[in-house]
Amino acid sequence: APAETPQIVVDAHGLPYLDSKLPVRKRVLDLLSRLSLEEKAGQMTQAERGALATSGDIATYALGSLLSGGGSTPTPNTPEAWAKMIDGFQLRARATRFQIPLIYGVDAVHGHNNLVGATIMPHNIGLGASRNPQLAYRAGAVTAAETRATGVPWSFAPCLCVTRDDRWGRAYESFGEDPALVESMETVIQGLQGRPDGRDLDRGDKVLATAKHFVADGGTEYGSSTTGTYTIDQGVTKVTGQQLEAVHLAPYETAVDRGVGTVMPSFSSLDVVGDGLGPVKMHARADMINGVLKDRMGFDGFVISDWQAIDQIPGDYASDVRTSVNAGLDMIMVPYAYKELHATLADEVRAGRIGERRIDDAVSRILTQKFRLGLFEKPYADTSGASQIGSAEHRAVARRAVAESQVLLKNAQGVLPLKQSEKVYVAGSNADDIGNQSGGWTITWQGSSGDITPGTTILESMRRNSARLTYSKDASAPTDGHDVGVVVVGETPYAEGVGDVGNGHDLRLSDADRAAVDKVCGAMRCVVLIVSGRPQLIDDAALSGIDALVASWLPGTEGDGVTDVLYGRRPFTGQLPVTWPKSEAQLPINVGDASYDPRFPYGWGLTTLTKVPEGGAVTLKALGIAAAAAEKAGAEEAGRALVTKARLIVQQRAAGTGITAAVAGPFAEADHLLVTGRYGAAVERLRAAYRAA
Ligand code: BGC
Repeated sequence: APAETPQIVVDAHGLPYLDSKLPVRKRVLDLLSRLSLEEKAGQMTQAERGALATSGDIATYALGSLLSGGGSTPTPNTPEAWAKMIDGFQLRARATRFQIPLIYGVDAVHGHNNLVGATIMPHNIGLGASRNPQLAYRAGAVTAAETRATGVPWSFAPCLCVTRDDRWGRAYESFGEDPALVESMETVIQGLQGRPDGRDLDRGDKVLATAKHFVADGGTEYGSSTTGTYTIDQGVTKVTGQQLEAVHLAPYETAVDRGVGTVMPSFSSLDVVGDGLGPVKMHARADMINGVLKDRMGFDGFVISDWQAIDQIPGDYASDVRTSVNAGLDMIMVPYAYKELHATLADEVRAGRIGERRIDDAVSRILTQKFRLGLFEKPYADTSGASQIGSAEHRAVARRAVAESQVLLKNAQGVLPLKQSEKVYVAGSNADDIGNQSGGWTITWQGSSGDITPGTTILESMRRNSARLTYSKDASAPTDGHDVGVVVVGETPYAEGVGDVGNGHDLRLSDADRAAVDKVCGAMRCVVLIVSGRPQLIDDAALSGIDALVASWLPGTEGDGVTDVLYGRRPFTGQLPVTWPKSEAQLPINVGDASYDPRFPYGWGLTTLTKVPEGGAVTLKALGIAAAAAEKAGAEEAGRALVTKARLIVQQRAAGTGITAAVAGPFAEADHLLVTGRYGAAVERLRAAYRAA
């Protein structure tokens, strides 16, 4: 809170822009006409709140926005502390001639992940695995409600990256490698913002969303960076114009249609084959930001830079500022040197190197969103929704998302679903770690292992399901006497870069995890869960010893979602959102590649459908299916091989599914059956029915 209450120097009440009954456009024009160049430059300046020399600088520089970024100083811990902090800043902003409210932004990328006690959703990679747009919508709505209830009206999410290489440390921020999948999950924008015309933004439980990082951040080439720090993150994406359109730009068309309020350009450079420009930093690409995003797609929100990203444009600071603003940037996430940005921006305009019209356009776009958010009418936090933060209702949405995000990669001998009567041995580095379950962008930028926020670990949830459970993280406890082992392995948290925290730069399991897998799977039937932001490499020897293998992604705080599928309260319905490689040498590997020989193909995901969701008799028992994979021509052969040893017993006609075949006997030895053709389609209808139920 500010030490003293600042004076409101001018009573701006009565001016037309304050009239909430006027159309937003009129209010914007009225306010814009009153602003000085310095005030306009201020609106375009976003400072990190920890970088403020004094909170009085908010008024001195007429700052338009503050953020708590990934690299922020420690964030407040309680909803009240968040609200109080932001209200304190807002009070300062109100001490300006026109009392223009700040717009405060955070990265609420999987729930309000800055706040201890918030509901932490699975990261986007898991939502992509769910293939359930309605779920993404609901996850967005919970995130928005919890975020706005702490006084934050803006989230730098969702990432619309189409991830093309598992070595990228932001792969988990992506919904998947297929642009169509990414587009289908953009319902999250409506969850965050409400209706596309922005009329829900002032409701008190919605936030402005950010489509990021424009464009092709997920397509950077490994080893292409010149900075030496990052080998793939913030690197160069080299694509043909056609690939750029089909793979990376398509999700932005959708986002603009969905009325996304802001767009953040990518740190990376874009190199379009044949355009003669070579690699150019996205923040400098007028052809893409002005040309494609604003002119062609008709984006009418505002463009916010990434963190200190304009500094990466070759040239001095003045040239960085004019190049990026002239390319179409409306607000600069400075975030430290806000005085310098403010002065430079104003100087460049005075010198005529940035046009007045460009500045007016930028400020109009920013003010439009502030009006839509209702910030002029209600600048201070409305914490009435704070009681819902981390509520049972919100956690139920996350739990459902977790359950639907689990991808069953292998299920030999029908080891899954588990039975509550079984005596279970639990091991592995990620069995009992809420921090590892949540990954990066949780409480802190990089995230961290351990008990960082309230939630249910996978182990805790397993204990609720099994009265007879042994837990030994390193599998040192005696293994005899157990019916089944569950080994939870995977990554430790990281954000950005190559994910070079914890396990090292490659995608192999740690030695400790590998030892736990070998020991437990050598001693009993076993299930291995991989808690990670991206596929981990499982060699032939390890895979053959594992009975059931599950990709759990980064599920967040609700471990009960994992046991919902492990214990068969719900069937597995998730499908791989990215290709699962056999080896690092195969990377990058994506569906549609000429030679495609992955460990598990894009779309793979067995299902343990045991009954028709609504009212039908039990129809399919111990059935594992990879129907989506069968659609891919290359999978046919593998499918036939599987069918010959498939174990499937269709007990009776499935109501409304068209499945009538009874398959038994010769398939008794199989791990799963690949169902194709019209039976495959019927199974997919079943899977979809579960998602909708
Ligand atoms: C990331 C953005 C993020 C920003 C603010 C940057 O490092 O690339 O995704 O929104 O920081 O935290």
